[in-house]
Amino acid sequence: MVFDKLKEKLRKQKYYQIHKEKIDERNKEWKKLNRDMYLKQQREYNNHSDRHQSNMIKCWKYTGLKLFDYTYEEVYEYYLDCDNCEVCNKDISMGGYNKHMDHCHSTGIFRWILCNSCNTKDNWMNKI
Ligand SMILES: [Zn+2]
Repeated sequence: MVFDKLKEKLRKQKYYQIHKEKIDERNKEWKKLNRDMYLKQQREYNNHSDRHQSNMIKCWKYTGLKLFDYTYEEVYEYYLDCDNCEVCNKDISMGGYNKHMDHCHSTGIFRWILCNSCNTKDNWMNKI
């Protein structure tokens, strides 16, 4: 059963890679046409998902994220409200693996909310 799920996931990933542009375009179009409904769905999911908030905060604490005068709850609100990458402006409103809290790896200070690709580039630059 687990294997079937994995196979299905891989099949979807492969399909997505092949039809990436078409799928992204369609999703974007749907979000544009149904902006209010989409935002409502997102908010409802996030607001009713206490687990999402506590998991995110747990993760930030684990990575040693420093927030100065802000509380974790305030930063979580900011995180939810951020729909675009703060470096390249890419749409990251879907959240999940595409939305990253960027922080300085030596001081732990929170810097930006980034898309996956900007976050990866940054990690890469930090290693030089
Ligand atoms: Zn970006």
